[in-house]
Amino acid sequence: FTVLAFESSADDTCAAVVTSSREILSNVVIKQHDLHEGYGGIHPMIAIEAHQRNLPIAVKRALKEANVSVAKDIDGIAFTRGPGIGGCLSVGSNAAKTLAAALDLPIVGVHHMQAHALTPLLTSWPNPPKFPFLTLLVSGGHTLLLLATSLTSFRILATTPDESIGRSFDKVSRMLGLKWTAFGPGAALEQFAGQQWDADLPDIGNFPRPLRGKLGFSYASLHSFVERCIAAKQGIQNIDEGFKLALARGFQTAAVAHLEEKLLLAFEWCAQNKIHVQDVVVSGGVASNSYLRERLAECLKTVDTTVPISLSFPPPSLCTDNAVMIAWASMHRFLARDHDEYTIGLRPKWSIEELSS
Ligand code: ATP
Ligand code: FE
Repeated sequence: FTVLAFESSADDTCAAVVTSSREILSNVVIKQHDLHEGYGGIHPMIAIEAHQRNLPIAVKRALKEANVSVAKDIDGIAFTRGPGIGGCLSVGSNAAKTLAAALDLPIVGVHHMQAHALTPLLTSWPNPPKFPFLTLLVSGGHTLLLLATSLTSFRILATTPDESIGRSFDKVSRMLGLKWTAFGPGAALEQFAGQQWDADLPDIGNFPRPLRGKLGFSYASLHSFVERCIAAKQGIQNIDEGFKLALARGFQTAAVAHLEEKLLLAFEWCAQNKIHVQDVVVSGGVASNSYLRERLAECLKTVDTTVPISLSFPPPSLCTDNAVMIAWASMHRFLARDHDEYTIGLRPKWSIEELSS
């Protein structure tokens, strides 16, 4: 079964072709970071216009790279139904429905976060995580710790009421005035923090440790701490490279330590509830951070279990938004002939706990 999938929930326009035998025939991502610079986040109208401009290009490229004919080789079309920006979602969903109607193909609308969470079932083959597993979804829009008990059942163990870890990375990167490339401000911060530096770094004080001992995330106080340090020096222009590096490293360490603490608490919660978890899956854009990957692997060694916990990450290109994950998350439904009607609506706000409702 070959799926053509579209993803347009936020600021990336994506199209991909994936088969039920786990072949990724193409994976096209057209980013628009630069268009939103100066707005302090995604500007919905600009994002919608960019999706409208870019989706036809992405689809054409995805079919060409996959070397398939849409009329002969595609068996179903998947799209992101939610959560996301309504206007952005509608670009992908309308395109999917119209194309499917013209070609008389079935459609499946996919939950964006479920797709992030299920990516390792595709990428860690032949040793995929086994249910029940813990999933940490760390992206621009979310910081979620989930217990996954099947392809469609997820329980939220922790989330953030304020800022996501990804946006917090983005804010600190901008505050420090870091230059960034196609991978965005978060990746620029990781690169800056990881640079070789032989001299001693100045003492910047201790970062806050929000919600200590509780299963919940909160990132706002971490980037506020950086903001206060910069304000105390009357602006970034008065800050030397060593102090900047101390801020970047301090922030990255505190942001990841926050995840470590909550992950260990989730294991305690599972033990108390007699849920035997052996696998941890970490996905979302921030999961491409290699410091985070090293730290989480270390922290899981301290969990008291009979068998070592296996930790899996999708490759970085499938951690950020992409349509491969949308195609893959739709596959079990296509194979079960559980399609959606062409009239299906969008779910811009859609909790992952309400997948089947
Ligand atoms: P969501 O998936 O929740 O709707 P999104 O689409 O914005 O949000 P992703 O594309 O999954 O999220 O991830 C983007 C986020 O990941 C950005 O905030 C970006 O800065 C962050 N990010 C990407 N690479 C890194 C990295 N190496 N280190 C830290 N953060 C990173
Ligand atoms: Fe995403």
